[in-house]
Amino acid sequence: MAEKDYYSILGVDKKASQDDIKSAYRKLAKKYHPDINKTPEAQEKFKKINEAYEVLGDEKKRANYDQFGSAEGFSGFGGNGGGFSGFGGGFGGFDIFSDIFSAFGGGQGRANVMEQGEDINLQMTISFEDAVFGCKKDISITRIEKCEDCHGTGAKNGTEYTTCPECNGTGRVRYTQNTIFGTTIREGGCKKCDATGKIIKEKCSSCLGKGYKKVNKIVTVKVPAGIDDGQVLRMAGYGNAPYKMGENGDLNLKIKVQPHKIFTRNGYDVSFDLWLPFTTLILGGKVEIPTLNGKTVLDIKELTQTGTVMRLKNKGIKYLNREVYGDMLVTLKAEFPKSLDKSTKETLKAIANQTDGNYVKFKKFIDSSK
Ligand SMILES: [Zn+2]
Ligand SMILES: [Zn+2]
Repeated sequence: MAEKDYYSILGVDKKASQDDIKSAYRKLAKKYHPDINKTPEAQEKFKKINEAYEVLGDEKKRANYDQFGSAEGFSGFGGNGGGFSGFGGGFGGFDIFSDIFSAFGGGQGRANVMEQGEDINLQMTISFEDAVFGCKKDISITRIEKCEDCHGTGAKNGTEYTTCPECNGTGRVRYTQNTIFGTTIREGGCKKCDATGKIIKEKCSSCLGKGYKKVNKIVTVKVPAGIDDGQVLRMAGYGNAPYKMGENGDLNLKIKVQPHKIFTRNGYDVSFDLWLPFTTLILGGKVEIPTLNGKTVLDIKELTQTGTVMRLKNKGIKYLNREVYGDMLVTLKAEFPKSLDKSTKETLKAIANQTDGNYVKFKKFIDSSK
């Protein structure tokens, strides 16, 4: 399938910012809007522009597109990915396999098994760090491969067959049919050779004449830095071999990222709540915190309000295939002691009296609710 280059459709650079993309889209949309532009190609062009913007205008879809050449990676995964987790669950046979395939909706139009091997769709779980920094992982898959003993011919020694005389080796034949609308010509698989184009004299014992076999395979997966939960890593050609002729399907790995014990990810930003003794927020101080790349020291200013968010520029996650980094957001929160002794309580009471009337927000609230 030829890839559509959304960047050139919008006429922007691959490094374009979201603002650049938006403004390029607006300009083009105005130019080709069917209400304004009455040339015959305008409508088609307008459609393409919208399609491109729908992907590039959305950070998550754009990242997927940059990496995998499509916004969704694999459209069939949708919401019901849960039904298809893990492998080794035993694909009983090819029929079950095609059932699974059709259950996915076959978004990519791979129904014709003569021309394309089927995709393998799996879920792959990785740690938060592996998603952030990228990793290499060996996974075990079961896939259909061409039988090496017969070079996929299904015939003994790979040579014990003749070309089917019925279809001349094409596997396809034309039927003429007389109907009330006249004679129609239809094309279909050749019945004599089961659409293989070959008449096998003696079957290959290794694959029982099928020409393909199910094998276990270790595949090394290179996970790019910046990949996010739910994205699909497509490995073109790593799927099943076709039953007859054509190219291998793809291996689609839906990525599941395990949560981190401190950090939460939001796009390419990471954030966490930093609970501090309330006195640190009042008096200020230095606090050592973890980042994705080792520790750093936060300088808490005197009289920092609880809920203040400190943004550490470029301390977030690296964008997929771009030398751009997100930020780290630290939300400062006040923690209070679990118990107070008598003298501390007295001290706090004294502070309360001394600072009375010095609370701007509280005063504003009281005034406005009078
Ligand atoms: Zn064989
Ligand atoms: Zn034939």
